[in-house]
Amino acid sequence: MGSVTGSQRTHLIIVIGAGPAGMAVANLLSKAGHEVVILNRDIKFGGLAEYGIFPSKLKLRGGLRKSYWDILERPNVHYFGNVTVGTDKDITVNELRNLGISALVFATGAQGTKTIGVEGDSAIGVYHAKDVVYHFNRLPGFGEQPFEMGRRVAIIGVGDVMVDISHWLVRFKQVDEVTAIARRGPAERKYNPKEIRAICANIDQQALAKEFARIRPRLEAVGQNPDEILKGMTDEFTKCEPRVSQTRMGFRFLASPRRVLTDGQNRVRALEIEETKLEPKGQDFAAVGLKQFYEFPCDSVVFAVGDRVDETVGLPYKNGVFVTNPALTGNDPDDALFQAYDEASGKVIEGVFLTGWARKASEGLVGIAKRDGEWCTEVLLRYLESQPVRERAEIDAVLYRLRALLTERRRQTMDIESLRVLEAIEKEQGGTQDCIGEFKFSSNEKMVELIQRRRASSSAPATR
Ligand SMILES: Cc1cc2nc3c(=O)[nH]c(=O)nc-3n(C[C@H](O)[C@H](O)[C@H](O)COP(=O)(O)OP(=O)(O)OC[C@H]3O[C@@H](n4cnc5c(N)ncnc54)[C@H](O)[C@@H]3O)c2cc1C
Repeated sequence: MGSVTGSQRTHLIIVIGAGPAGMAVANLLSKAGHEVVILNRDIKFGGLAEYGIFPSKLKLRGGLRKSYWDILERPNVHYFGNVTVGTDKDITVNELRNLGISALVFATGAQGTKTIGVEGDSAIGVYHAKDVVYHFNRLPGFGEQPFEMGRRVAIIGVGDVMVDISHWLVRFKQVDEVTAIARRGPAERKYNPKEIRAICANIDQQALAKEFARIRPRLEAVGQNPDEILKGMTDEFTKCEPRVSQTRMGFRFLASPRRVLTDGQNRVRALEIEETKLEPKGQDFAAVGLKQFYEFPCDSVVFAVGDRVDETVGLPYKNGVFVTNPALTGNDPDDALFQAYDEASGKVIEGVFLTGWARKASEGLVGIAKRDGEWCTEVLLRYLESQPVRERAEIDAVLYRLRALLTERRRQTMDIESLRVLEAIEKEQGGTQDCIGEFKFSSNEKMVELIQRRRASSSAPATR
């Protein structure tokens, strides 16, 4: 695809975030001949496809990487890695809006973490799931932190993220015990049956049967059949990956964490758990506390209860999400779903769109985020029809102003050539025996230094 000329109906759009949603937007917009700037907090592109998906899913990760390289190498796509947008960050939302662009798309994912707000949740040994995942995927800022897990780990939550973290603990940390704690029952488990294969060889099936016996009366009280549920659950334990450690994996159901209990050094020693029962709620069941408490000994606690967006980005925020247009009216009612909205003025924020996990935190897999990006692009393309087109000279002037602003802030932005250099340097380091399997730098400073040194030695500029 050639660079766009002034005679085409060209727009300049800035996409913030190079995860699956942002890359889907960049793909369709650049294919339509528009000029796309991508600003990404991480040096590397991919978002959770790079720093979230379990490292051993090499085929999925490799396929996504390849498709993202193809998009980023188009001449009308300009990648700026190592740039964070937000209040008191490298560049603000208003500064971007004032550059003279056609639209801004926020595909920043859900970088905040949800807590359930229990006493003791800031003790040493309490972690948020995404931070742990970022740690074992070597995201700068997390890769080099210690993340001491101890021998017995309690994970709050029974979704796919719980499975991924258990996978890391069972296979690579080889702790003694991992227990998934669920407020509701086994029928309400949320993980994908395919995912459990990573750890099912380590699930203690005798202990699981005992756990079912313990909660049997409470399941039967709401018409659930414990035998059928247990069979359904254990039938999924086929095609288990080979057992490589003695770690015992278990479940504790109808168990609501109430307090993290600590020792004299503020280190986790146990969870205080309240027994719950199920109560029908619409088509589903809710957990209701029974005011019966017990201690569950553990050395660390991981909260895997979902994510929220990062409010420091600087967009209107409410209850864990960025605010979108509540008025599902207009030419196409779907449009409102992607439009950022300011409740104070009661107005849509002109030209600012949201997509992916930035729009719906923790919503689905890569395919869903990609589809969301594509859907957002359809809405955006309709919006662009009413906007003035940009001449080549105007586009170049905006790019110049953006680079000047970032240089003024001493931001060492990394372009796609820099990433090629980084890829080569990392390959030269060879493979690793840990869960990553491939070498990955986990420090931004180190990456920038090595890229600059290598580019200087081949006399190419390191930043643009
Ligand atoms: C632990 C875990 C495991 C998963 N495993 C799988 C799996 O096996 N298979 C699967 O299909 N899906 C999996 N998913 C889901 C998948 O990763 C998500 O659906 C998808 O990545 C969401 O895409 P996104 O683009 O909305 O956000 P993200 O992937 O989070 O991308 C956000 C991007 O925005 C950038 N960014 C953030 N804030 C800023 C800022 N202020 N300024 C500039 N840039 C910013 C980040 O650097 C990042 O590049 C998993 C998710 C998690 C959490």
